[in-house]
Amino acid sequence: MPVEIVTVPCRTDNYAYLIKDSAADEVLLVDAPEAGPILEALTARRWTLSTILVTHHHGDHVEAVDALRDRYDCEVIGPRAEASKMPALSREVAEGDSGGSGDLAWTVLEVPGHTLGHIAYHFPKAGAVFTADSLMALGCGRVFEGTMEMMHDSLSKLAALPADTVVYSGHEYTRANARFAATVDPDNPALQARTARIEEAREAGRPTAQVPLKEELETNPFLRPADPAIRNHLGMQDATDAEVFAEIRRRKDAF
Ligand code: ZN
Ligand code: FE
Repeated sequence: MPVEIVTVPCRTDNYAYLIKDSAADEVLLVDAPEAGPILEALTARRWTLSTILVTHHHGDHVEAVDALRDRYDCEVIGPRAEASKMPALSREVAEGDSGGSGDLAWTVLEVPGHTLGHIAYHFPKAGAVFTADSLMALGCGRVFEGTMEMMHDSLSKLAALPADTVVYSGHEYTRANARFAATVDPDNPALQARTARIEEAREAGRPTAQVPLKEELETNPFLRPADPAIRNHLGMQDATDAEVFAEIRRRKDAF
């Protein structure tokens, strides 16, 4: 396994991710929700943090940036569009920008909606995408700053990545997302099977927010506004995909 990805549970339900190339000393971190668990995960492996990749400005994703920078003198990379709202960045990035080397090569996808400057980091060689509060396991982030249409476009962009890409999202919300998904897509056997696996994993305390895109495409209602069964269920046979997405998101907000 050339690239090792460590899921670090933080705060109540956040995830940070450490990414290490076994052939190099480079260690990346996606988001910095809480210093304690991240420092613990690094020191237990005798890893030195090289770079923090920030997805968006919310406190539960950036709070530990300064503490980690003090400790490791690491580079901090984040979205240009939100640079004024977060701890100082050493590099500001936007759509199409890239970094990292070898198997840790990444590129930036702008995925606004939850916040206006939200970005995801795609690692094509490692087959991973870090989506934080844009595309989430069986869900998507709440649309706080952007529009429904914007979030729908962002999810469509992520949905177009290779289907074997593993999606690493920012929160453990999967169980609640599964309960909601059943209300808009009640007859989907793939969703039912996944829900059973999620219940089992959560009972055992295992994370469930790290899933191949293929599985999201088959089960995540926010990626399936074109699905005839969902449209029938919502009585929206003639609506656009963006309209169906917006209706699903509104129902989730009220769920
Ligand atoms: Zn957020
Ligand atoms: Fe968050």
